[in-house]
Amino acid sequence: MSEVRHNWSKQEILDIYNKPLMDLLYEAATIHRQEHDPNTVQVSTLLSIKTGGCPEDCGYCPQAARYHTDVEGNDLMSVQQVKAQALRAKSSGSSRVCMGAAWRNVKDGPEFDQVLEMVRTINKLDMEVCCTLGMITENQAQRLAEAGLYAYNHNLDTSEDYYKDVISTRAFEDRLDTIENVRKTNVTVCSGGIIGMGEALEDRAGMLVALSTLSPQPESVPINALVAVEGTPMEDIEPVSIWDMVRMVATTRIVMPNTQVRLSAGRTQMSREGQAMCFFAGANSIFAGDKLLTTPNPDVNEDMEMFKMLGLNPQKPFTKVSQPKTVEAQDSEYQNLGEKPKWTRPGHKIERNEAAKEKAKLSK
Ligand code: SF4
Repeated sequence: MSEVRHNWSKQEILDIYNKPLMDLLYEAATIHRQEHDPNTVQVSTLLSIKTGGCPEDCGYCPQAARYHTDVEGNDLMSVQQVKAQALRAKSSGSSRVCMGAAWRNVKDGPEFDQVLEMVRTINKLDMEVCCTLGMITENQAQRLAEAGLYAYNHNLDTSEDYYKDVISTRAFEDRLDTIENVRKTNVTVCSGGIIGMGEALEDRAGMLVALSTLSPQPESVPINALVAVEGTPMEDIEPVSIWDMVRMVATTRIVMPNTQVRLSAGRTQMSREGQAMCFFAGANSIFAGDKLLTTPNPDVNEDMEMFKMLGLNPQKPFTKVSQPKTVEAQDSEYQNLGEKPKWTRPGHKIERNEAAKEKAKLSK
């Protein structure tokens, strides 16, 4: 068993990240083999249940209403639509459905009740259910847990220092508060970030410090490569190199040995050889489906071909943590409290976000 440490320093993580590549790969692959089946990879399907029109200003995101992108907004999907998509995902090998809504935070009311019903419905299909709905209170997290939620995704995105250069509508601290609220329930935590947003290596290490010093460490850590979308403040940033992705995955594996490390956005920019190297370095989860919320992703057949070529098998649901029970709405201990939490709104100016907003205004 590898030791799980919660006291990693930024310098220690940087030293790992910057090791000669062969040493880094060997160390990461050794830990990976001790803690996980190296030939099993979890396949998750990401479903955008409410797209676009988001009030936040995340500099990488085409769903932010203030930027001018090609994303078409959609109202919240129906429970039946979600069930149909989940069944399709299950039949093509997915063991987890992750539902994403472009919200700043969850608001108590009919839409949240509808999401809770989606969670109940998918859990009854014997699939792991994950939600990413923005910031949530403890009571909202408890209601999701009762509905049968397996995981809640809330990415830290980057280091605390660089966060201020990416988002001005909420603070890093809000992210940690939501994760803490989720931790008060039986729901597992999925939290990671994005590389290639113009951050320094110190920021990548800083993000891994923030994640690895959480106790317990997140059960799942997605590592995304920025997909620069036209109209967003980061539209001109060049794609990150595959070597950076491999190093980031390997370093994540070493500092969080038991975590599922998820190769997330940006896979279309990677060759199969590059992805294979990420699996060797410790990635053991991917998102399937031709879209990741709004950005392109390899289609399921391509992924299954790659799995066959590499001798990989999709992971069965509830391999790591047992299936949560679903409590029906009428038997629920936690009710709609009509909460109006005050999440932070720092509101400082980020030059490139302001410029993209102005450009969007002019093009309307
Ligand atoms: S990343 Fe999420 S919170 Fe940020 S703008 Fe996009 S949808 Fe909104």
